[in-house]
Amino acid sequence: MTSRSLVRIVWHPSQAEHNPGQGHPESPARIKAVLAALRAPGMAAVTTWEEAEPAEPAALLRAHTAEYLAQLQAIDRRGGGRLDEDTVMNQASYRAAVHAAGAAIRVARLALDGTPAFAATRPPGHHALPGHAMGFCLLNNVVVAALDAIEVQKVERVLIVDWDVHHGNGTQAMVERDPRLRYVSLHQWPLYPGTGRVDERGVGNVFNVPRPPGLPREAYVRDLNEAVARATDGWRPDLLLISAGFDAMAGDPLAQFSLEPEDYVSWVREWRTMGVPMASVLEGGYAPERVAEAAAAHVRALA
Ligand SMILES: [Zn+2]
Repeated sequence: MTSRSLVRIVWHPSQAEHNPGQGHPESPARIKAVLAALRAPGMAAVTTWEEAEPAEPAALLRAHTAEYLAQLQAIDRRGGGRLDEDTVMNQASYRAAVHAAGAAIRVARLALDGTPAFAATRPPGHHALPGHAMGFCLLNNVVVAALDAIEVQKVERVLIVDWDVHHGNGTQAMVERDPRLRYVSLHQWPLYPGTGRVDERGVGNVFNVPRPPGLPREAYVRDLNEAVARATDGWRPDLLLISAGFDAMAGDPLAQFSLEPEDYVSWVREWRTMGVPMASVLEGGYAPERVAEAAAAHVRALA
């Protein structure tokens, strides 16, 4: 057993102000519950806190088109607007998104410097495409962080593991032609957004694990572990970034998997044996109290 280290929680106040509308599942209540759980007295021994900086335009342009970023800025100047049927900006959304991407960059850099870190952020990112918002996501936080690690921090290989219950179609689209990156996703099938088949392999760097609801929890845990093992067989990553959605939990209103907090703990314990720096970025999860419970367990496991 190695000694425990403090986990850096990177966050920004604007992320509780981004609001896609009354009754929307991606609500400010999610992050408020997560932050409250991470600030609970029992967590003080394992956490330190840092306010995120905004991602620089150059960092965003590694993942997104200039036209799309200009569109987001134009909507921001108007005080908000609708990007697709379920992705909506208010007056705080652009600021929240840019700080979420900045938080993702920061946790990756911290991990590379030896500090485990968790970006407690919203909006989520893994559905965001190079030129389009989608599925509550504006900027693809994890890919922005992965490309910063490669282009600025000069690492050679980044593994993205996505345990959000939805397939990260945006992440896959950004990874699938870039052999410096590998993407492993466990997701419910069929389910939004409809991508993530086993035969979507990119340049051999995409490892999709689509699964039906109703399997024993142990099956989901095992199958993602096996996919991570395949992705890292003969390919040692310099950095592991987790797209940490918690909507595969039992009780989530948008999906029907059955995971419990200890399942996220067991994944982190398993992957730690690789000895690769590990950072984690919040994605989905729509039962706020359950997300908070799982996020706290996850952060304790990162320590
Ligand atoms: Zn999700």
